[in-house]
Amino acid sequence: MMTANEIRDSYKKFFESKQHAIVPSAPMVIKDDPTLMFTNAGMNQWKDIILGTRDPEPRRRADTQKCLRVSGKHNDLEEVGHDTYHHTMFEMLGNWSFGDYFKEGAIDMAWEYLVDVLKLNPKDLYVTVFEGSPEENIPRDDEAAKYWAKHVPEDHIINGNKHDNFWEMGDTGPCGPCSEIHVDSRTPEQKAASGKSGRELVNQDDPQVIEIWNLVFMQFNRKADGSLEKLSMNVIDTGMGFERLVRMMQGKHSNYDTDVFQPIIKAEQQITGLKYYTFEEETVNPISKEQDDINVAMRVCADHLRAVSFSIADGQLPSNAKAGYVIRRILRRAVRYAYTFLGQKDGFLHKLVPTLVAEMGDAFPELKAQQQLITKVIKEEEDSFLRTLEKGIGMLNDAMDKLKAEGKTELDGVQAFRLFDTYGFPLDLTELICRENGFTVNEEQFNVEMQKQKERARNAAAVENSDWVELAQGEQQFVGYDYTEYECHIMRYRKVTQKKNEFYELVLDYTPFYGEMGGQVGDCGVICNEAETIDIIDTKRENGQSVHIVKALPKDPSAQFMACVDTDKRNASAANHTATHLLDYALKQILGDHVEQKGSFVSPDTLRFDFSHFEKVTDEQIREVERMVNDMIRQDIHIDEHRDVPFDEAKKLGAIALFGEKYGDKVRVVRFGPSCEFCGGIHASSTGRIGFFKIISESSVAAGIRRIEAKTGKECEELLYQTEDMLKAVKAFFNNAKDLQGVIKKYIDEHDSMKKEIEGFQAQAVERAAKQLVEKARDINGVKVVSAVLPMNPAAAKDLAFKIRAAVDKSLLCVLGTHADNKPQLSIMMSDDMVSDHGLNAGQMVREAAKLIQGGGGGQPHFAQAGGKNADGLSAAVDKVIELAKL
Ligand code: ATP
Ligand code: MG
Repeated sequence: MMTANEIRDSYKKFFESKQHAIVPSAPMVIKDDPTLMFTNAGMNQWKDIILGTRDPEPRRRADTQKCLRVSGKHNDLEEVGHDTYHHTMFEMLGNWSFGDYFKEGAIDMAWEYLVDVLKLNPKDLYVTVFEGSPEENIPRDDEAAKYWAKHVPEDHIINGNKHDNFWEMGDTGPCGPCSEIHVDSRTPEQKAASGKSGRELVNQDDPQVIEIWNLVFMQFNRKADGSLEKLSMNVIDTGMGFERLVRMMQGKHSNYDTDVFQPIIKAEQQITGLKYYTFEEETVNPISKEQDDINVAMRVCADHLRAVSFSIADGQLPSNAKAGYVIRRILRRAVRYAYTFLGQKDGFLHKLVPTLVAEMGDAFPELKAQQQLITKVIKEEEDSFLRTLEKGIGMLNDAMDKLKAEGKTELDGVQAFRLFDTYGFPLDLTELICRENGFTVNEEQFNVEMQKQKERARNAAAVENSDWVELAQGEQQFVGYDYTEYECHIMRYRKVTQKKNEFYELVLDYTPFYGEMGGQVGDCGVICNEAETIDIIDTKRENGQSVHIVKALPKDPSAQFMACVDTDKRNASAANHTATHLLDYALKQILGDHVEQKGSFVSPDTLRFDFSHFEKVTDEQIREVERMVNDMIRQDIHIDEHRDVPFDEAKKLGAIALFGEKYGDKVRVVRFGPSCEFCGGIHASSTGRIGFFKIISESSVAAGIRRIEAKTGKECEELLYQTEDMLKAVKAFFNNAKDLQGVIKKYIDEHDSMKKEIEGFQAQAVERAAKQLVEKARDINGVKVVSAVLPMNPAAAKDLAFKIRAAVDKSLLCVLGTHADNKPQLSIMMSDDMVSDHGLNAGQMVREAAKLIQGGGGGQPHFAQAGGKNADGLSAAVDKVIELAKL
């Protein structure tokens, strides 16, 4: 039986033998595309080639791609664990042809691989072809059907509708019909019992008759008005689910029974002491509802462990925004299942990391390299969510107590939604806990709230793009490494509407403008000619090109322009970027080789650098880093830049590549003395231009990740002036004393001893007052009533009240009206028998009486206080309390 690793290799080998370039997986986390957070299909990394903005050579490629389907168009999250063939993270095997072979080649190769190489039984394979769409005037894909007919009998070819068999990149852009290969993996017994043919079960959500490979034939381009035109280059894009293929090859009926997941599931069984039932075991031995819950939970945890670990290795940590939030949600889903069904009240997932790394670390070295970080981040997230979970359960218990007291049995949906929103309790968990306690949940209301939130999110995110207006064809040339001004023409432009804001995006044929990427902000500036000047307010990067953002179009878009970058801002950004490289280098020298960049932000006025390190960077270390960087600045090291270096050669140069970054075949290497990195950013021509470097803050952003913020050059100068001005002002307070530190220390010492002395006097005064007040106490029907209005601060008043209680332990009602700085305060203190025998409540009384001092407060039954605004009302308030006591 082939192992998963052997199957992965055989795929690559097969397509290599068909002249495909075998390329590495792109990162699962996408950093520079505003439209997509995670790779959800193999084709994502080829988008620019398909759109025609990147060189298509080599025209045949194949790979295995890490994919994540938990957000946006493809979201399988809710299925995962409940079924046995959808994962959050999975590998997609793919092969591509960019203007090379088309339908026939793709179909022949897929068939040859599955049947001749892997020896899958053709009787179990079914294929689908697009049935056509009369309203769009697209005929049935007879072409594909004809090529399939070379390999399979007619009754294994099935027509499919637009939903299943017509693929579109987005609302606009490349699209075309597709053909899916489905497998019937039922056991002979199942086939016999069902009485249905595999053909009847294709696309019917039968867990044993599933799609494994999708061959997409891109031949159209959809325009914004919905119409289709022919694509200039036909593209083949295929995707096969690796875990599903392994399952077929290993004769299993669940992806989780293969060697991709079994080692993790074994570890889960060991830790929890519970058993997992494989498909075979379940068949022999039907399982209970409880056991099924355990099975589902184990699958959820095994699956989510992979998604979360791979994403952390790719540099995306759990957080409360965007991609980070998606990862946090996946992790929390696993924690909930482990908590509810596997009895794991402490962090569980992080204990499985060693098994995952042992199994997949060879194929994906990023896992091995970052095992420590992955474990630490997961554990911290688990711990913090388990605390939240407990709080949420507390809140739910309170709510149920209240319902019980009111004689109700239904939790309202608004409350259930709040649990979902703040504590991450999905409806099923709330329902489960409620059901266990004999309550139901108003699901309808919950859904209404959910819908409302979705709408809010949609309105906030709505972006509308018009079609590109093409003025010229071709690829954009970026000239920004060498120039800040350049002659140019507009090649295409389009209008974008975002939250009622309108702007235009321009693509120039030649541009010196750097588009935001790798943490460095985009350039701004102008394009101008004799007739007009247009401000460029920002530059973004899209599909490998700089896209310039303008508020208004030029009157004549086809004219020639001069593109001019704002060089003050550009130079400041460049200096900060270079300083970031020096900082990275110095941190590795001083803290150690485990330091790895985890994020970076570079703008004209600041730089921010996130890196892996497991404790606080000490003040001394910060100084050392600053000294090292400033030393390198004074050496005025010249930039040593290598463009278009083949990837492997760049590595030989010693350049630092980041895990989780996407690099082309050719890369740029930037070296300043000993610092050497892969980098596409804009840099200072020499380190001296940075001027000076100063770290402003060091903090923690997540478990195992530290953040340094720093400033350079002119910003540092301003900082120095501010500090100087502040010091001058402080000196002036102390008559410009020479020994400023000594003088301040003396003041503090004096202040401390005076404070002590005052506290001593106060304590004596309170003591005396207590004695006098108790002596003067009135007796009303056997109750000792102590009351007074006197000047005193709130702390002393509290002290006084407790002293009086200590002196009179029975039948005491003490009411104090005190004031300090014209602020009144009312305090009520009683002995315990006044509460138990007289049924009095100081909290209620103080609230009522405080109205007379225009204030409010509360407290315990025997002691309560209230502050107010009207000191003149104190004496009336004191009388009111005595009246309320009805002695
Ligand atoms: P399905 O209908 O089974 O959800 P799909 O139509 O979403 O599949 P495609 O988008 O065509 O699938 O993706 C190509 C291949 O990737 C599929 O044929 C399948 O083998 C695999 N695949 C898709 N989604 C998942 C998933 N969530 N987990 C594992 N494999 C998947
Ligand atoms: Mg799907």
